[in-house]
Amino acid sequence: MVDGQTQLVGLIGWPTAHSLSPAMLNAAFAATGLNWCYVPLPVPPDRLEAAVHGLVALGFRGANVTAPYKRSILPFLDRVDPGACALGAVNTLIVHRKGEKASIYGCNTDESGFIRALHQGGVRTGGCRALVVGAGGAARAVVSGLLRGGAEAITVLNRTPERAEQLIADLAGQGRQATRLVALPLTPGALIEAAGRATLLVNATPVGTWPQASASIWPDGLALPSHLVVFDLVYNPRRTRLLEQARASGARAMDGLEMLVQQGAIAFEMWTGEPAPIAAMRAACVEVLGEV
Ligand code: NAP
Repeated sequence: MVDGQTQLVGLIGWPTAHSLSPAMLNAAFAATGLNWCYVPLPVPPDRLEAAVHGLVALGFRGANVTAPYKRSILPFLDRVDPGACALGAVNTLIVHRKGEKASIYGCNTDESGFIRALHQGGVRTGGCRALVVGAGGAARAVVSGLLRGGAEAITVLNRTPERAEQLIADLAGQGRQATRLVALPLTPGALIEAAGRATLLVNATPVGTWPQASASIWPDGLALPSHLVVFDLVYNPRRTRLLEQARASGARAMDGLEMLVQQGAIAFEMWTGEPAPIAAMRAACVEVLGEV
C-alpha cells in the first residue's frame, strides 16, 4: 500500500506504457516488504531536463532511463559512472541527498546484466569468439562486457557500418588488449561467415520485436551453426524468430528476459542497498510474457 512513507523510483522514457519494469520492480518491493513504489514517468522530448530536476524536487530516490533518452540525458546529470561514460549511455539514476543538497548520479546496468545473464546460463566469456549484430546502446554494453570478460575475438556487424567502427574505436581500450575486434557492414554473407567462426551470436537489434516481430537477422531456410550459443536481447516476445531458427538448427537459444531481470536487480540493489529478490522479479516478468 502506498502511504506517506513510500519511497519513489520510476522509469523515464517516451513512451513507457509497454515497459515490464513497473511490474518487475514492484514485485521486488512486495517480495522484500520494502515500502517503495516504481512508477512510469513518460517524458515528452522537450521536457527531459525538467523531468530530471523534477526527480529531485519530488523526492524520488532514483529512476531507470529507457529509449530514447539513454544518451541524451547525460548532460543533465551531476555525475556519471566512468563505465557509463565509456558506453555513452546511462539506464539507471540514483538521487543522492545530503542535507538540503541533492545530486543525480547516472550509471549503466546493461553490461553487468548481460554478463550475469550469460553466467546464469553457464556461458563463459573468457576465450569466447563473439558475433554481435547491432551497434546501438545495447550492443555497446554487450561488447564492453565481452571485452572485460576476456573474449578472444569480437566481430560487430551493423546496418550502418560507421556506427560499428565507432563502437570499436570507443571501446577498444577496455579489457584484454589481445581481443581481435572487427567491424563490418551487416550483409547475409558477412553474417554467415562470421557465425561460422563464432561461439556466441548476440542479436543487439530490435529485429524480432514489435513492429518487426516476425523478422530475423538470420536468412530464411539456412541452418545456424549448431555449436553456437544464440543470445537474443529481445525479450518481447521471448520466442523470437531467431531463437526458433537456433533451436531448429540444434544451437543453444537464450532470450533477453534474464538480462532484463539481472539489470533490474542491480538497479534495485543500488537504490535500496538490499539483495534483489531475483526469483520474484523473474516470476513477475514470466507472468506478463509467458514461459518459453
Ligand atoms: P538502439 O540504440 O536504437 O540500436 C539499434 C541497433 O539495431 C542499431 O545498430 C541499428 O542499426 C540496428 N537495427 C535497427 N533496426 C534494424 C534492422 N531492421 N535491421 C538491421 N539492424 C537494425 O537500440 P538499443 O538500445 O541498442 O536496443 C537494441 C535492442 O536490445 C532492443 O530490442 C532493446 O529492447 C533490446 N535491449 C534488451 C535489453 C534486455 O535487458 N534484454 C537491454 C537493452 C536493450 P543502425 O545503426 O543502422 O540504425
